[in-house]
Amino acid sequence: MPLRLRALAADNTTLRVDAIVNAANSSLLGGGGVDGAIHRAAGPGLLEECRGLGWCPTGEARITGGHRLPARHVIHTMGPVWRGGGAGEAGLLAACYRNSLVLAEAHGCLVVAFPSISTGVCGFPPDLAAPIAVETVLAFPAQRVHEVVFCCFSVDDLLRYESELAGVPGL
Ligand code: ADP
Repeated sequence: MPLRLRALAADNTTLRVDAIVNAANSSLLGGGGVDGAIHRAAGPGLLEECRGLGWCPTGEARITGGHRLPARHVIHTMGPVWRGGGAGEAGLLAACYRNSLVLAEAHGCLVVAFPSISTGVCGFPPDLAAPIAVETVLAFPAQRVHEVVFCCFSVDDLLRYESELAGVPGL
């Protein structure tokens, strides 16, 4: 089945999907932005589970249950901090998307929702991040995952992803 990609304006803590992705901090013990929202909505059980996971290096991902969230799983990935573009940020951001999808596949997730990783506190320019996100997901050899949702938290980001997706032939 071909992979379906779509963009949606939403708070990802509300999505009833197999997995939502968290732009976590490397301790996996919660933080601001989407990470804080996910921990608040999931409840203390998520923090408890994260404590057992240890450190997550930049570009890697870890998976937990969704606890009180409507999503079945949370995939936590540590996005790169933007340092001007010469520090491997693009490759690390792509690795976040790829490694999250590897975990989604391994856990039988069919629908996965990504936030715009690194474009908040980490300062990755959103105009550069969106094409990396879309290209990396398109290049992923998905077997079970059949839908990827780009969960946008602003109208600007939604327009950015919509125009990115409109440029993909056959979508
Ligand atoms: P990072 O540290 O990776 O930059 P942030 O959480 O600061 O992570 O921001 C990443 C993106 O997630 C930003 O585009 C931000 O607007 C968005 N965001 C924040 N809260 C939510 C949410 N509840 N659902 C979806 N996206 C969110």
